[in-house]
Amino acid sequence: MQIFAYVTLVTNADYVLGATALARSLLATGTTADLVVMHTGGVDDSHLESLKALGAKLHRADLLPTSDAFNARHQRAKIHAENPFTKGRKPDFHTPLDNFAKLRLWQLEQYDRVVFIDADAIVVRNIDRLFFYPEFSAAPNVYETLADFHRLNSGVFVATPSRETFDAMLARLDAPDAHWPRTDQTFLQSYFPDWHGLPVFFNMLQYVWFTMPELWDWKSVHVVHYQYEKPWERDHPKAAQLQPLIDLWRSCLDGAMPDVDSLENPSVAR
Ligand code: UDP
Ligand code: MN
Repeated sequence: MQIFAYVTLVTNADYVLGATALARSLLATGTTADLVVMHTGGVDDSHLESLKALGAKLHRADLLPTSDAFNARHQRAKIHAENPFTKGRKPDFHTPLDNFAKLRLWQLEQYDRVVFIDADAIVVRNIDRLFFYPEFSAAPNVYETLADFHRLNSGVFVATPSRETFDAMLARLDAPDAHWPRTDQTFLQSYFPDWHGLPVFFNMLQYVWFTMPELWDWKSVHVVHYQYEKPWERDHPKAAQLQPLIDLWRSCLDGAMPDVDSLENPSVAR
């Protein structure tokens, strides 16, 4: 029998809140796979209690042992200055360097296959079939134009844990002068140039709600991913536009997942 897990990452209390909504949403899909929460020293044990209570397996995962030069090149201020985020705003509690710790899931060799999901996402329909997709599968980074299809989004992906792969990745990641402007996402795209494309509905980015409302169909959407501003941020700049999605996230956090089939599509609602 093959053993599967959903895996997410939390490096501070804000993302623990995100992971709690994610865990509750996953449970509501009736999955029997494990949920592994990788956490760094940036998270107090007390904050992890809610996740433990939901049955999540906690896995201590330290930030990667990248070089000082690498860390300097990927400092938040530097990343924001060199390649500014012009479409949306990253919350203050987002540290780009922390993203790379995702790669530690390749160390979870007790699992035959894992599906990584960002802590700022919720699963609204069962996605267990993804465990039978090959490494490396991800959805395109679609939230604005057709050109988005060239790039993957690393908020949801299918991977096969392997110590060998992990070691090879680390060597490539921290090669002299290596620079990954969008952190793990840029790296994974480069490491897996022949990535398999999942339908966008397996990683529906929240901005699609207002940039391409005709693409949003609750009958197809499986994962909602709150890229840029987070649904638990108070009064963020896009909150008014995204209110129905924020309400949905809040319901997940409260353990009261609504019937997605009954939700109104934005092309109708607006
Ligand atoms: N993450 C984290 N702490 C950080 C930055 C990132 O725990 O400071 C984890 C968390 O799982 C998060 C993911 O890495 O969901 C990627 O970051 P985020 O989702 O904020 O990026 P976006 O989807 O907005 O590009
Ligand atoms: Mn995300």
